[in-house]
Amino acid sequence: MTKILGITGGIASGKSTADVFFREKQIPVIDCDQIAHDILNKGEKGYELVLKRFGMNILKSDRSINRSELGQIVFNDKKQLETLNRITHPLIFQEIQAKIALNNPSKNSLVVVDAPVLFEANGQKYCDFTLLIAIPESLQMKRLMLRDRLSKGAALKRIRSQMPLSQKEKLADFVINNTGTKQDLKSKLEQLLLEIKGEDLYGMS
Ligand code: ADP
Repeated sequence: MTKILGITGGIASGKSTADVFFREKQIPVIDCDQIAHDILNKGEKGYELVLKRFGMNILKSDRSINRSELGQIVFNDKKQLETLNRITHPLIFQEIQAKIALNNPSKNSLVVVDAPVLFEANGQKYCDFTLLIAIPESLQMKRLMLRDRLSKGAALKRIRSQMPLSQKEKLADFVINNTGTKQDLKSKLEQLLLEIKGEDLYGMS
């Protein structure tokens, strides 16, 4: 049976960097951010539902959803964010399930699900294990500002709109601190895989 490792962590904590490691190991990675993006494309299920709730003002001239406009609305109003999540999360879960079903369990016994809001969406119940990539806020700010060319204020707003790290730490099965180099992160992930294999938790040993 396919086992699911859910990876989470705050914005710019290093999830995508961890994904590269798993893909190099031929372990399939399902990217929830990508799914969340795709379901809002014109003609997709989420498109109509979001439009119905948020109105025509969020459309660009080509009738595609203006994602930065939608972002402005939900990142400035918690209630609106909850509404958007209520619409999109069930669609995202459906898509994840469909992608996992595509995986051949005899070939790949572990699938990674990169889910930035795993705990916020209570997605841990669908995972066999969860991994939190953790970094202190100061380093998170630095990496986020550098990667997304954000101002200090904008970066802080994004970070603070997410569940606090201390809360996520309580929910995660494994926590990896990504405060060292990328190579350090890889070594820790390697160690984690060995640990999982060693316990024969997903039948790879
Ligand atoms: P996430 O996917 O969690 O948002 P990323 O993997 O994109 O985070 O990492 C955020 C930024 O920090 C990226 O520019 C990435 O290259 C960089 N980064 C990640 N891990 C490290 C590390 N250990 N040392 C230096 N830079 C890192």
